[in-house]
Amino acid sequence: MAHQTRDHNLRLKGILSNALAGTAPGREDIVFLLSLSDEDSISMLFDTARQIRSRHFGNRVFLYGFLYFSTECKNDCLFCKYRRSNRSLIRYRKSPEEILEAAEAMAASGVHLIDLTMGESAFFHNRGDLGFKALVDLTKGIKRAAGLPLMISPGVVPEKTLAELAAAGADWYACYQETYNRELFSTLRLDQSFDRRMEAKKTAGSLGMLVEEGLLLGMGETLDDVGDAVMAMQALDVDQARVMTFRPQAGTPMELLHSPDALGELMVIAVLRLVLPDRLIPASLDVDGLAGLGQRLDAGANVVTSLVVPGQGLAGVAHQTLDIEGSRRTPRAIGPVLEARSLKPASRNDYLTWMASTRNGHAGGLPWPDNLSSPDLFPDLEKIAPGGEDRPFVQMEN
Ligand code: SF4
Repeated sequence: MAHQTRDHNLRLKGILSNALAGTAPGREDIVFLLSLSDEDSISMLFDTARQIRSRHFGNRVFLYGFLYFSTECKNDCLFCKYRRSNRSLIRYRKSPEEILEAAEAMAASGVHLIDLTMGESAFFHNRGDLGFKALVDLTKGIKRAAGLPLMISPGVVPEKTLAELAAAGADWYACYQETYNRELFSTLRLDQSFDRRMEAKKTAGSLGMLVEEGLLLGMGETLDDVGDAVMAMQALDVDQARVMTFRPQAGTPMELLHSPDALGELMVIAVLRLVLPDRLIPASLDVDGLAGLGQRLDAGANVVTSLVVPGQGLAGVAHQTLDIEGSRRTPRAIGPVLEARSLKPASRNDYLTWMASTRNGHAGGLPWPDNLSSPDLFPDLEKIAPGGEDRPFVQMEN
């Protein structure tokens, strides 16, 4: 830190010690942290984030399976491969049987939660009650078949549907603003309402669902915008806060945009850990695959997301196929990355306990020290065989 001024160093140390003592940085300090540029300062930030993670979660991380069951979408977000105007890809909508099969394989692979994601498919969104009933029935069936916590990312749906999804077994509602700069939002999410998206999350929370918010970096936002977004996530009291780096998508108006490196994302992960110490912060395999997992964990993430069972013809978001069919996005494949950091998958009971205590307003991480893991009703995740073998990609009819 020799080349930084004394004031800089004092300020950084003050912010980090306050965070360790339980006082989260405010907006100005968040922007200061996000603007750190020298290696020593950044490494102090990451180190603090890991200490805070360890205090709340020990050495345990949660694993999420990603089941992208429909890549159809009626929206036209500028950054997204699955925008309706992109004619350069083959889309699918899996049948209920295929989705159930994929969910069962995912559960057997050892994940803690299944993330049911779809674009805003006209099949579900444009057929009134009939379409949303199909989504609710699907959720019920998957809950029964997989017996795991479920996260649902259906886009913006009516309050009645959210209530029915919650009753059908959806524990989480994920709906990402991607940016809290309203002007940028309206440029990126064409013809969509910033406020309706926000309201959907608040409604889900009021219905007892856990809520995930998300940011996408590298689309023209400033550090101040990111600072505002982090503060907004804190005000929304989100249960999970994810950040991903924009990767240009072929066939979209942003395909030639510069693809930023992951450092900005890592710094936001660390800052989120300081601001939301006992909440879940994902390291997504979707951005840089298995190769990018370690650095995200080193920045303070405590959930590995976008695990995908190979052989089911399921796509990713930032990368449609990255590491999927090579079985590099499975609980088994990430084992060595966790081990190298003395981390391990939590038990399923750990996850259920965290969800229950968070729902009851007692978020505080996990209640057991690492040498006293919770009694587990489920098999040891590390001993579960990897699911799925290679099977052909299945294309669905509309
Ligand atoms: S980001 Fe979501 S809503 Fe927007 S085009 Fe892509 S799938 Fe559709």
